Amino acid sequence: MDTLSPPLVPFHCPYRASAEVKYVLDALSSGHTEGDGPYTRRAAELLSRLVGGGTVLLTTSCTHALDMTALLLRLKPGDEVIVPSFTFVSTASAYALRGATPVFVDCRLDTLGIDERAVEAAVTERTRAIVVVHYGGVAGDLDALGKLAERHGLALIEDNAHGLGGAYRDRPLGGIGSMSTLSFHATKNIQCGEGGALVLNDPELVEAAEIVREKGTDRSRFFRGQVDKYRWMELGSSYLPSDTLAAVLTAQLEEFDQIQARRSRVWDGYHSGLADWARANGVSQPIVPADSRHTAHVYPLLMPDLATRRDLISHLAGRGIRASFHYQPLHASPAGLRHGRVGPGGCPVTEEVADRLVRLPLYADLTADDTELVIDAVRAFQPRPATALR
Ligand SMILES: *Cc1c(COP(=O)(O)O)cnc(C)c1O
Repeated sequence: MDTLSPPLVPFHCPYRASAEVKYVLDALSSGHTEGDGPYTRRAAELLSRLVGGGTVLLTTSCTHALDMTALLLRLKPGDEVIVPSFTFVSTASAYALRGATPVFVDCRLDTLGIDERAVEAAVTERTRAIVVVHYGGVAGDLDALGKLAERHGLALIEDNAHGLGGAYRDRPLGGIGSMSTLSFHATKNIQCGEGGALVLNDPELVEAAEIVREKGTDRSRFFRGQVDKYRWMELGSSYLPSDTLAAVLTAQLEEFDQIQARRSRVWDGYHSGLADWARANGVSQPIVPADSRHTAHVYPLLMPDLATRRDLISHLAGRGIRASFHYQPLHASPAGLRHGRVGPGGCPVTEEVADRLVRLPLYADLTADDTELVIDAVRAFQPRPATALR
C-alpha cells in the first residue's frame, strides 16, 4: 500500500459523543450562543469534579489558558519561568509573550516529565513559576516539585493538556498547582475541535481570572448583578468559547468514563502485546510510577535510535498504520533560542527522547481487531542489526 492512500488505522480520530448534535442544535435554538451560557456552566461543573473541585473557566484553547496564567502572574520582562523543553510550544510561548524568559529544563527518561533536580538547579532570584506537563497523563514527582515551589515562593502551574482524569497519590491532576490548564483540541481525549480551560485552585485568583478572560472587564460581576455597569479593569483579552462549542464539550464529558475505558483497553493491549518484542529489541515501553494513574493519552515507545524510529514509522505506514514522532526540543527551536534560555546541564535527555520516541495510534474508537493489527505489525518489525547494535 502506498503512503498516500487512506490509512487502515489512522493515528488519531476525534471521538463523537452521541448527544453532541442534539446539544448543538439546542444551543443554537436557545438564543444563547455566546459564551458562559447553560452548556458552559454544565461543562465547567463536570470538569471541576474531575480536577478536584477547583473553579473552571472554559477557554478557546489550552494555549489561551496558558496565556491567561502568564497575565495572572503579572510577569515583567526579566522574570523567569521554568518550563520543560520536551513539550508543546504553548507551554513556553505564553510566558515569552509577556516578555518573561522561559528557562528550559530537561525531562526524566522514565516519566518523560520535567526533571525535578534540573528544576532545582535552574531556580534563580528572578524565577516566578514552574510549569509541569504530565506527559501522557503520567505524573512525575509532584511532591518534590510542590516543596521546591513552596521553598522558593514560586507558583506551580500544571499544563494538564494530557492529564484530565489522571491522579498523583490519589490527588486529581490539574488540582495540585495553584492554576492548571486543559486542552480540548481534536487530538485530545475529550475534544470539541478547539477548546480549553483554566482551572483555579487558589480562590484568590478567581476574580482576576474572570476579568482577564472577559477582555479585561468586570463583565462577569455585572452579569451576576454585583455591579451596575462593567468597566475596563485590567489587561485581558477574549478567551471564552461560544456556548455552541461548550455543547459539544458537555456531550463528550458526559461520556468521560467510557471514553477513558476504551482508550485504556487499547493502551493495555499494546502494553502486554508488545512486552516481549520490546525486551528483545532494545525498545522501552512507557513507565508509569506506582503512585501515578495515567490517562491513556499516548502510547509512546522509545526506539534504540533515530534510524530505527524512522524505519518503524515507514514499516507501519507500508501496512496502512500511521504512527508519529512527537515534540521537538523547544530549547533548540528558532524562537526558543531567541526568547528563552536553557537551564544548567542542558537538555540531553530531551534531545535523545525527541529522536527516539514514536507514538502508536490511540483513540477511543480503535477496535480490538485493529489493536491486534497494530500489535502484529509492530511485532513483525525487527530493527536492522547495524542500528540495534549501536
Ligand atoms: C495540546 C497541548 C497544548 C495546546 O493545546 P491547544 O488547546 O491546542 O492550545 C498545550 N500543551 C500541551 C502539553 C499539549 O499537549
